[in-house]
Amino acid sequence: MLDYAVIADAYEKIEATTKRLEMTDLLVDLLKKTPKNIIGKVVYLTQGKIYPDFVGLETGVAEKLAIKALARASGRKESEIEEDLKKSGDIGETAQKLLAKKKQVTFFQKTLTAEHVYEVLDKMAKTTGSGAVDSKMSLLAGLLSDASPKEAKYIMRTVTGNLRLGIADMTVLDALAIAYGGGKENRELIERAYNISSDLGRVASVVVERGLEGIKKFQVVVFEPIRPMLAERLGSPEEILEKLGGKCIAEYKYDGERIQAHKKGDKVVLFSRRLENISDQYPDAIELVRDNVKAEEAIVEAECVAMDLETDEMLPFQELMHRRRKYGVEAAMVEYPVSLFMFDALYIDGKDLTLEPYPVRRKAMENTLKESIRVRPAKHIIARNVKQLEAFFEEAIENGCEGLMCKAMGKDSVYQAGARGWLWIKYKRDYKSEMTDTVDLVVVGAFHGRGKRAGTYGALLLATYNPEADTFETVTKCGTGFTDKDLESLPEMLGKHEIPRKHSRVQSTLEADVWFEPAVVLEILGAEITLSPIHTCAMDSIRKGSGLAIRFPRFTGNYRKDKAAEDATTSAEVVEMYRGQLKKISEA
Ligand code: ATP
Repeated sequence: MLDYAVIADAYEKIEATTKRLEMTDLLVDLLKKTPKNIIGKVVYLTQGKIYPDFVGLETGVAEKLAIKALARASGRKESEIEEDLKKSGDIGETAQKLLAKKKQVTFFQKTLTAEHVYEVLDKMAKTTGSGAVDSKMSLLAGLLSDASPKEAKYIMRTVTGNLRLGIADMTVLDALAIAYGGGKENRELIERAYNISSDLGRVASVVVERGLEGIKKFQVVVFEPIRPMLAERLGSPEEILEKLGGKCIAEYKYDGERIQAHKKGDKVVLFSRRLENISDQYPDAIELVRDNVKAEEAIVEAECVAMDLETDEMLPFQELMHRRRKYGVEAAMVEYPVSLFMFDALYIDGKDLTLEPYPVRRKAMENTLKESIRVRPAKHIIARNVKQLEAFFEEAIENGCEGLMCKAMGKDSVYQAGARGWLWIKYKRDYKSEMTDTVDLVVVGAFHGRGKRAGTYGALLLATYNPEADTFETVTKCGTGFTDKDLESLPEMLGKHEIPRKHSRVQSTLEADVWFEPAVVLEILGAEITLSPIHTCAMDSIRKGSGLAIRFPRFTGNYRKDKAAEDATTSAEVVEMYRGQLKKISEA
């Protein structure tokens, strides 16, 4: 048993120091006084928690409820408490003060133990449904009645999520190494256990009960998230290749949400980059993992991207925001379905892969994947020179990605859980800005639609006009912004202009399914303009071998019937817009 008073005293001292070393010493003291069987619980408590974050269980006491509980425990009116709270700004201080006055007259009955406090907090966290507010209130009032004023202060702060002692995870690991791990020099071993479990409490219990040997055997466990490996950033392919030893696995860097998927049989849990359980936001992604990851048990990482499934085009990251709304997920699944692009495997059927080199992990990921249109490995090449890397980069941008992730492939290219290092290097466009003006583009071709859009077009191939050469140069593929009515009328409107092959004045490297003579002009709003190896708009004018593309185009609904094809936005205007966009960024 450990008196909660011991914990409260330690908190008070920790709060009084800002020095990390002193804080560590105080924590070491506390851990040494703590019985082994509750060390995990005490570690959670010092972090103001009762479970590791990924469990997502909090006591979740609102201020109002805390005031009610304090009123009951102290015999004061709620209005009095509110009055004092206005002055102190801290429900902990207020509880301490008001209970101190009361405790002068009555003696408190029972010694509070850490075990009991934890148990009651746990009960509060798990109380849900009707009547939950009242039950939580009684539980809290009960604790406060038994608490000394100082204990009440910290209990109050804990239940309302305001403990904030400022003890960093790394400080806890230091303290564990010093108190039970044979010294600070063993911190790294203990840290690895934390990095592959995200659970300080479990790590603490293992260190205390089984020592360093236990820590060395510490295993990845399905449903305990692994802290993500992060990338450094460099600005040029030359530097990247040099840093990675002359070659690398270069992958598309998709612009979505990072997901760590854990699977065991039919059960799948998804964790975010911050290791929150986000399974509720992506029921469709859960199904994709369940159906397409063949391993019985697996931990894999993927980028989850909102897609237009008809055109197989990626939608901007913002469309994933629809998933954040509690009641909008069903609708978002229909309107903004997601695809998964997998880029790592950390555990497969009993085998911890985190210490394997990246090529081995990537292969394991590919092998366990039943590929489908909605679950694919991240597109990759092995790049050995600058030219390859540059070309792949531009292809990635053209396909709606943010750039490339370049990954080391040597023996030491392990999964550095919880660390940002040079084994992964991101190569992004160094600019991004909004395109605010609309453009008027000519329809020169179209791609057949699939699914819901069978029988009409999936996307239109759009071009700018180049008056010098009297040609039409492709600048984007657009499948967004069309209403059902638009889609119904398009085949007729465009059909009149259909021709058996590409029009002689159209410059295109893309092969459309259907070609049109340049005639119909549409108003389009895009998100940004980028260099493109595929589109021919203003080819070579910014960089040799590159044209310009408009990304994330959307039809505004405005058919520019007043415009002839030759009145469309010119390629030179797009160059100006591109330059203006760059200027805005350099000024920002
Ligand atoms: P970071 O995650 O490195 O702190 P950030 O949140 O600003 O940085 P970015 O700079 O955009 O994100 O880049 C890193 C993210 O890119 C990863 O966390 C992951 O979500 C995403 N990503 C997309 N494609 C890949 C890929 N092929 N491999 C690894 N990560 C990828």
